[in-house]
Amino acid sequence: MGDMHSLQAMYGGTFDPVHYGHLKPVEILANLIGLQRVIIMPNNVPPHRPQPEATSEQRKAMLALAIADKPLFTLDERELRRDTPSWTSQTLREWRAEQGPMQPLAFIIGQDSLLNFPSWYQYETILENSHLLVCRRPGYPLTMRDAQHQQWLDAHLTDNIEDLHSLPAGKIYLAETPWFDISATLIRERLQQGLDCDDLLPSPVLAYIHAHGLYQKSTDA
Ligand code: ATP
Repeated sequence: MGDMHSLQAMYGGTFDPVHYGHLKPVEILANLIGLQRVIIMPNNVPPHRPQPEATSEQRKAMLALAIADKPLFTLDERELRRDTPSWTSQTLREWRAEQGPMQPLAFIIGQDSLLNFPSWYQYETILENSHLLVCRRPGYPLTMRDAQHQQWLDAHLTDNIEDLHSLPAGKIYLAETPWFDISATLIRERLQQGLDCDDLLPSPVLAYIHAHGLYQKSTDA
């Protein structure tokens, strides 16, 4: 996978459904730091967690539609093919093994995910295998909730783009991407209420949602 030594990035999520709040910050991030390719990776949601409303196949199909005209993105199904929970730490360990010790690798998250990051399974090992690239998201602070986690963040922070390209892993970069006030939750709620979502996600994805009757379930039925 990939050209020798050019920074590679993965972007994981539930994508139920994929929307512009996922796509636009990452396209801008790619321009800011010189990313040639982003591997977008829908996760398999473990049985004990609240299930996505769309099936894995539907989430994958919507992602494929969303990126069809965007060569920046490629789709990776490794977590969907698994029967076990999607641990980012495990996926990045496997990806590192495939790519070798010198290849610069990164994992992209939104600001909300950075705040929760210290609760992720084996979160410290994630930075051993990759950098973290953080996109801004409205409504979430830029500082961590407790001092210990802020110290962890400060210890890894860089504002030097060169570091991301020259080091294989270990840095956290807070990208100055614009705010997009969009969530999958907002889209599911608007669809249930019959409100339009034209500016929130790519039109082929919206057409798919309507064609398959997704997110129409009424909770008070
Ligand atoms: P939900 O509303 O169902 O919780 P979501 O819209 O937050 O979903 P996810 O699939 O959970 O989407 O998110 C995948 C990744 O995308 C996460 O790292 C999250 O922080 C990031 N992300 C989602 N929406 C935005 C946004 N509007 N701006 C920046 N990052 C975002």
